[in-house]
Amino acid sequence: MNYDDLFQTQLDALKTAGNYRVFANLERYRGNFPRARNHAGGRGPDEVTVWCSNDYLGMGQHPDVISAMHTALDECGAGAGGTRNISGTNHYHVALERELASLHGKEGALLFTSGYVSNWAALGTLGARLPGCVIFSDALNHASMIEGIRHSRAERRIWKHNSVEDLDRQLSEYGPDVPKIVAFESVYSMDGDIAPISEICDVAEKHGAMTYLDEVHAVGLYGPQGGGIADREGLSHRLTLIEGTLGKAFGVVGGYITGSAALCDFLRSFASGFIFTTSLPPAVAAGALASIRHLRRSSSERERQQQQVARLRAKLDAAGIPHLPNPSHIVPVMVKDPVKCKMISDILLEQYGIYVQPINYPTVPKGTERLRFTPSPAHTDADIDHLVQALRALWSQCALSRAVA
Ligand code: PMP
Repeated sequence: MNYDDLFQTQLDALKTAGNYRVFANLERYRGNFPRARNHAGGRGPDEVTVWCSNDYLGMGQHPDVISAMHTALDECGAGAGGTRNISGTNHYHVALERELASLHGKEGALLFTSGYVSNWAALGTLGARLPGCVIFSDALNHASMIEGIRHSRAERRIWKHNSVEDLDRQLSEYGPDVPKIVAFESVYSMDGDIAPISEICDVAEKHGAMTYLDEVHAVGLYGPQGGGIADREGLSHRLTLIEGTLGKAFGVVGGYITGSAALCDFLRSFASGFIFTTSLPPAVAAGALASIRHLRRSSSERERQQQQVARLRAKLDAAGIPHLPNPSHIVPVMVKDPVKCKMISDILLEQYGIYVQPINYPTVPKGTERLRFTPSPAHTDADIDHLVQALRALWSQCALSRAVA
């Protein structure tokens, strides 16, 4: 059997469908975000403007973060040296977990290698270890939650996206003695819409369910100290577990969960994705700690980001470019065709020095292909004007629809 042929057949099918992923070879360089050096081999200018980074506030290049990482690197060396249990717990890990618990107003926090791993490990462990547990998962939950739920082998019920009524109806099919987890996100990454957290908590409490909230696209960005949407709405105490990442607004890498002391101890003791892997490098923990502390003190990055988001939306409206309206920092411009989506992304890079990755199936449903723009505090007004002019020209050139839906 020729295994490479088997691989190639499936890769060719992806290419035919326009869903084959090509990574842009771009290099961030210090102090210049959102500019990046373009190594695409003659495709486009030497320097481009990045419009799709999840380093939402540019904290990956913040001087406090870089300097904290340098100090910890000099002090502790490169790696953590082991799993958390076997010599891999460093004072930076401990301090970071305390900071995260305090950020979310919880008793404890637990670090993971990434946000993906934190969802996979936490849901996988909770679903497997709570006897007879049923997990109620929002229809648009991230792949890491879906995989965690699958891994748990618990019964899974999918509720209509953001529909409190559907959740209520499905929860009411189970008796009070059945352990239940309601798993959802605050800001949904591809549509940028926000869950009705308070109403979801009402329904979950009515049925005695735990609440599991992924705030990956909200931590650092919302709330007076960057604690996320639950924090902004004064709801953190109603969530059993809040999960987040250190890799997006905090600009570093890693994931975490926060919750009661018992919940954290439970996952620390039973989650294989926590136990059996080398812990984050101390320098990473130190950088994340500096980033969180900075964003707890300073709102200026959040405010400037929101201004630039509003500016981009207003300019898109004026130019008749269809974008999904939503109350977050994510601006999805709808192309609704995978081949055209990729083509526009290529032209933006090559002719305009604008880098935005096309978002195609399976990341979003077929027919909703899009360009997902994430304005940061570092994008200038001139950057926004240049982007909208380019989109306006391309929309006419490619005869694209101006309808949003
Ligand atoms: N949850 C959501 C909603 C996400 O969008 C992502 C990543 N895109 C993750 C979790 C995983 O986070 P990380 O990148 O830290 O692994």
